Amino acid sequence: MDNVTLIVPCYNEQENIPEFYRQVKGIKIPDCRISCLFVDDGSHDNTKSLLQELSSQDESISYISFSRNFGKEAAMLAGLDYAEGDAVVIMDADLQHPMDKLPEMVEYWRQGYDDVCGRRVDRADESWVKRNFTNLFYYFYQKVSRYPLQRNVGDFRLLDKRCVAAIRLMRETNRYTKGIYTWIGYNKKEFPYEVLPRFAGTSTWSFMALLKLALEGITSFSTVPLKIASVLGLGVSVLALCYMIYIFITVLLYGDPVAGYPTIMVTLLLLGGIQLLSLGIIGEYLGKIFGESKDRPLYLVDEYNGEKFIYRPVSVCRERAGTAVRKE
Ligand code: UDP
Ligand code: MG
Repeated sequence: MDNVTLIVPCYNEQENIPEFYRQVKGIKIPDCRISCLFVDDGSHDNTKSLLQELSSQDESISYISFSRNFGKEAAMLAGLDYAEGDAVVIMDADLQHPMDKLPEMVEYWRQGYDDVCGRRVDRADESWVKRNFTNLFYYFYQKVSRYPLQRNVGDFRLLDKRCVAAIRLMRETNRYTKGIYTWIGYNKKEFPYEVLPRFAGTSTWSFMALLKLALEGITSFSTVPLKIASVLGLGVSVLALCYMIYIFITVLLYGDPVAGYPTIMVTLLLLGGIQLLSLGIIGEYLGKIFGESKDRPLYLVDEYNGEKFIYRPVSVCRERAGTAVRKE
C-alpha cells in the first residue's frame, strides 16, 4: 500500500476547506492511501478551527498552524518537513488544482518518476500585461540562470520522498521554490492540466507581489545581474576613453573649442544613472546576505494536530531537521 500525503497551504480558506475535504474523500486510487496535511499560514478566519475539527474526526487529516502568516513558501516547506509518506502532492486549498489528476500523477510516480509536475495549459483568464510580463520573465531568467526553469509549471506536483528529503536540506531564507525544484534534479515528468477558477475567495497575489517574486527568482539563482554592472562599467569606460581621444584630437589638430554644458550634463547623468543602478543591484544581493546571515527559522509552528509547540534553543536547531519539541 502506498501512502501519499497532500500538502495544502491555507491562508484564509474557510470557504474552500469543506469542499476540498469532500473532493479528497471522493478520490479512490487502487492500493494507495491518501492523507492530507493542511498548513494554516496564520489565517484570520475560521480556517484553524475547521482544521481542528476535521483532524479530530478523521485520522487521515492532520494540520500545522503557524504563529503568524509566513507566506506560501514557508507553508509549503513546513508541509514538506512534517509530511510522512512515500510521496507528497502539493495542492492549493482553493481547488484551482484539479483533484481528478491525482490518479494520473500517482500512476506516473509508480512508473518511476520522482517529480511529477503539472504544466498549466489554460492561462486565458490572465491579462495581456501579466501574460507578456511572464513571457519576458521566463526569457530573461533563461538567459541569466544556469538552471533551466520549467515553463508554466508551478507548485502543483507530486514529489517522491527522495525529492522531499532533498528540499528539506535547502533552508535558505529567500526561497524561490520554483528554482529549487529544478535545482534538485531527479527524474521529472510534466503533465498538462487546466487551472480551474478559484472555488471561493480571492487570490492573494497582486501584480507587485509577482514582480517581487520574479526579482527574487532571478537574484536567488543567478549572479549575472552583478556581472551586468561590471560589463556596463567597462563599456562606459571604453566609450569615455574613445571620446577623450576624439576631443584631444579635435582640440589639438583643429583648434575646436571644447563643447561644454550639454556634453558634461549628458555624461554626468549617464554615469550617475549607471552607478546608482549598479549600487542597487549590489544592494539587492547584500540584502539577501543580510537575511541569510540572521539564520532565523523559516516558520514557527503554533500547533501540530492540537498540540501546542514551544521552541527551546535546541528545538530551534531541530526544527531545521524537520522536527520540533512539542509541549503537552
Ligand atoms: N497561501 C498561503 N499563504 C499566503 C498566501 C497564500 O498559504 O500567505 C496559500 C493559499 O491559501 C492557497 C495557495 O497558497 O492555498 C495559493 O494562493 P492563491 O490562490 O492566493 O494564489 P494563486 O492561486 O493566485 O497563485
Ligand atoms: Mg489560487
